[in-house]
Amino acid sequence: MKILLVDDDADNLNLLQEILKPKNYQIFAVQSGNDAFSKTKELEPDLILLDIVMPGISGFEVCQQIKNDPHIKNIPIIFVSACNDIEDMTEGFRLGGVDYITKPFRKEEVLARVHTHLQLKLLIEEKTKLIEKLDQNSRTDSLTGLSNRRDLLEKLNYEAKRFERSKNPFSIILADIDNFKAINDTYGHGGGDYVLVELANLLARNSRDQDIVSRWGGEEILILLPETDASGAKYLAEKYRKLIESHNFHFDGNQISVTMSFGVNMVFSKNDSNDFIEAVIKRADNCLYEAKKNGKNQVVYLHEVEI
Ligand SMILES: [Mg+2]
Repeated sequence: MKILLVDDDADNLNLLQEILKPKNYQIFAVQSGNDAFSKTKELEPDLILLDIVMPGISGFEVCQQIKNDPHIKNIPIIFVSACNDIEDMTEGFRLGGVDYITKPFRKEEVLARVHTHLQLKLLIEEKTKLIEKLDQNSRTDSLTGLSNRRDLLEKLNYEAKRFERSKNPFSIILADIDNFKAINDTYGHGGGDYVLVELANLLARNSRDQDIVSRWGGEEILILLPETDASGAKYLAEKYRKLIESHNFHFDGNQISVTMSFGVNMVFSKNDSNDFIEAVIKRADNCLYEAKKNGKNQVVYLHEVEI
């Protein structure tokens, strides 16, 4: 692990380096507050031992700079000072330091405090990664890897709020695989799952970066198109329809013919309804229903009428 030592006194730096040497840490040292900040940005060390009293920029000021920078603010800082002053200690903790070492250095104490804070940092990183992974899993459909309903609803709510402020329209596409029951009946659930995964990959590969493609339900896909008007949404829905129609779905030596029906709804006015989101989806659902009724494998769209 990387440790950055900051002290204006070369003797102190040498002493700390001697103490830490047997532990196989990667040690870096600088002698001024100015260098401390730039070196921290460059190295992103796992721990900083930071002298408080230095000419020019003090250790406290360096700490503040680091805590104000989102990329490095979580690097733990142990303050180092000659004086065992309670006010200094309090100020150090207030500014975000995690611990305190006083001069003259006691070898065992330095080693123990450094070890403790490096271990803590590792634990926090592991925990953060775990939380991110759990969060990611809770937003992902396990079969297709697409966003799930929960994730889509959250982003749709966000988009609705953005829309209230900016008044730029957004659109949604609700799509449903045609005759999915027949696919399952003919090729078994393995065949049905294959079609879902293949189709999800096809849509994900061909969608724009800003769009959210989600598995809304069994064989239903909902695509959120931020800041997209009716003509853009219609164009995309038609593009997806053709892509799917012409794609080769091969399962177990069979070629499966797959098509989808699409309902498209552009939102450009917010009515008084408490269930704005629900109403937006309902309208797309009505369009999808029309598409199915009119013979499937087609796009039906509607844009809201301003009230
Ligand atoms: Mg000093």
